[in-house]
Amino acid sequence: MLMWTVKEVVLGVSTLFVSVELISWFFYRWRPKRTINEVHFFPSKEVCVEHIFSPSLLDLCSCPLPHGIETSFSRLLRHILSASSSLDLCIFAFSNMILCRAILKLHHRGVIVRVLSDKDYIAITGSQIGILRKAGICVRCALDSVYMHHKFAVVDKRLLITGSLNWTLSAVHNNMENVIVTDEPNLMQPFIGEFNRLWEHSNKGKYLEASDLLKSVEK
Ligand code: ZN
Repeated sequence: MLMWTVKEVVLGVSTLFVSVELISWFFYRWRPKRTINEVHFFPSKEVCVEHIFSPSLLDLCSCPLPHGIETSFSRLLRHILSASSSLDLCIFAFSNMILCRAILKLHHRGVIVRVLSDKDYIAITGSQIGILRKAGICVRCALDSVYMHHKFAVVDKRLLITGSLNWTLSAVHNNMENVIVTDEPNLMQPFIGEFNRLWEHSNKGKYLEASDLLKSVEK
């Protein structure tokens, strides 16, 4: 009668255990990565987005806007609110109150938000830049003679949002605009580099904190 020794049983179990671990690691390491590559066109229909801020409000909101409809803007909003550690925003004009609310929500959640904007546009009527600054978000402005005309955001250094869209109400709901959302590293890395380059230059006196500019406007 075939009898397995204790040594053989231990060896067999150990081999089986190691094999399972190796197979698990292989499938984890080489599993197909979920990628994000989206193109969104504007203008976007104006719909209720309360449930994106507070999912528990779904079906409970009584505002007059259409509910339960996904739009280019709602997708953009979801991507912005998906930030868990950082948001770097380079934006020429920022007067959209819903997007401002999203940035404030991230800030209160502990996400590190950095905003670069244009010196001539931070104080235009309806600009939300002052509200961001008063909330304690670091905003800087280029002092170059040329416009800081970028419109891009990098979420958690993993997701790039870029296109023609200024963060204004009219751009979102009235203009023909485009936005690309991607986690493609070859596209995202140059934007991270460009943001850091512009941000670092602010330490060399080429940029001013938005607070200084806004103070001079308020005088
Ligand atoms: Zn509503």
